[in-house]
Amino acid sequence: MKKEFAVIGLGRFGGSICRSLTELGMEVMAIDNNEERVNEFSMIATHAVVGNTTDETVLKSLGIRNFEHVIVAIGDDIQASILTTLILKELGVKHITVKAQNDYHEKVLRKIGADHVVHPERDMGRRIAQNIVSNNVLDYLELSDEHSIVEIVASEKIIGKSIVDLDIRAKFGVNIVAIKRNKDIIVSPIANEVIHANDILIVIGADSDINRFEKKLIDL
Ligand code: ATP
Repeated sequence: MKKEFAVIGLGRFGGSICRSLTELGMEVMAIDNNEERVNEFSMIATHAVVGNTTDETVLKSLGIRNFEHVIVAIGDDIQASILTTLILKELGVKHITVKAQNDYHEKVLRKIGADHVVHPERDMGRRIAQNIVSNNVLDYLELSDEHSIVEIVASEKIIGKSIVDLDIRAKFGVNIVAIKRNKDIIVSPIANEVIHANDILIVIGADSDINRFEKKLIDL
């Protein structure tokens, strides 16, 4: 059975989620209080409806509680975003993801029970900064305030060495969870796995430990 999603707010972020979910073959109901935006999505989403989601009767009449996951992508109007989330929560929607505009907004959303709070501008900013600072870091996923998963290109200094030679876990407290090699992915590589040129190491650990590992990788 196809999963059913509802996206509230069809700005750049909500619009992009709506398009991507549709491309992934999901059933998507697109909701916005701006008729022009809704018209834009009438050929993209499974259903596109005009409605003010701060009105409980509107959400009830759309049968919102039957949707598997609701994404609230109302940006600028923080009050509307909070009120919409609160109503969705009260109506018993199981999974609610909300876009936060700032840290205070995020705090309130978490307090009222949003399951996932996303901060696309902040997160993408951090990601790009990480990539700019280090030529070796290809991508970065924040797991918590202090832990991440990072993709690091194997430097000249470690090519030909095995994971056990490098003694990464003991020296740096980080783990190589996978190695991307050409089109293959070696999941949980064994200690004797030798690093090849152009390998991409997928490393998990505390940010400070990953930074130490990465510096050492370059300066070894
Ligand atoms: P983005 O930051 O994703 O580009 P945006 O800045 O283009 O968004 P916003 O004003 O942040 O647009 O809001 C996103 C959408 O949410 C808009 O299309 C807006 O009409 C819609 N929206 C705002 N308030 C409500 C509401 N109460 N009910 C339904 N839709 C709403």
